[in-house]
Amino acid sequence: MMGHSHALSGVVGWMAIVPLVDGEQFLGVRFDLGPGEIVAGALVCAGAALVPDLDHKSATITQTYGVVTKALSAIFNWLFGGHRNGTHSLLFAALMGILVHGLVLWSDLAVQVFVFLLIGIAFNGLGFGMEKNRAASGIINALVTAGLTLALFINGVDYSWIGLAVAFGCLLHFLGDIATRMGVPLLWPVWGYRFGQNVGFDTDGAVERHLVTPLLTIGVVLYSTFRFPWPELLPAA
Ligand SMILES: [Zn+2]
Repeated sequence: MMGHSHALSGVVGWMAIVPLVDGEQFLGVRFDLGPGEIVAGALVCAGAALVPDLDHKSATITQTYGVVTKALSAIFNWLFGGHRNGTHSLLFAALMGILVHGLVLWSDLAVQVFVFLLIGIAFNGLGFGMEKNRAASGIINALVTAGLTLALFINGVDYSWIGLAVAFGCLLHFLGDIATRMGVPLLWPVWGYRFGQNVGFDTDGAVERHLVTPLLTIGVVLYSTFRFPWPELLPAA
């Protein structure tokens, strides 16, 4: 799928699991999700849902932070054996989850920086800003991302769950790609079988453009309207 479809699926997927995980504990991580955590999680999942395509040189995420993400992309492509290979495996999702959870255990500041970078990637994927004016949209993206990260920080958002959210975002990416013709080698490097190969729609084809992306967009709007705890955000009278 295209970057924007993946990013949208991250938001929809997160909103869908919020009521299931809230107040629960998984792998020793407790999910206590207030309004701040719900917003943060949606953006984290949107960004994480773009991470597996870091193995592709023209992917949204690769283009997001110039030479930095381009260099990372080259390394990922080499490490994981080319596009839609190792970065599209369950092993990769687990590795990302563990790595990011390591950040949580290591340093609060590192987590804030990571969240900032990931939200920037999410906005880039969601198509924030205009294609026509790259410089201006880059600046707007950076300002909004910084403002949001800061707002979430001031609200004391707890990110103890972020490792699991990032792994979940990667899984959502695989689901999206399984739905396309190319399929995904989920069990790489043990078994190279591509799940969902030759079934589904073409990446950026008519089905994705006219059906998948619009449906995901509607999902985001509906979830944001009905599931988001708007009353809790308003100051108490
Ligand atoms: Zn992909």
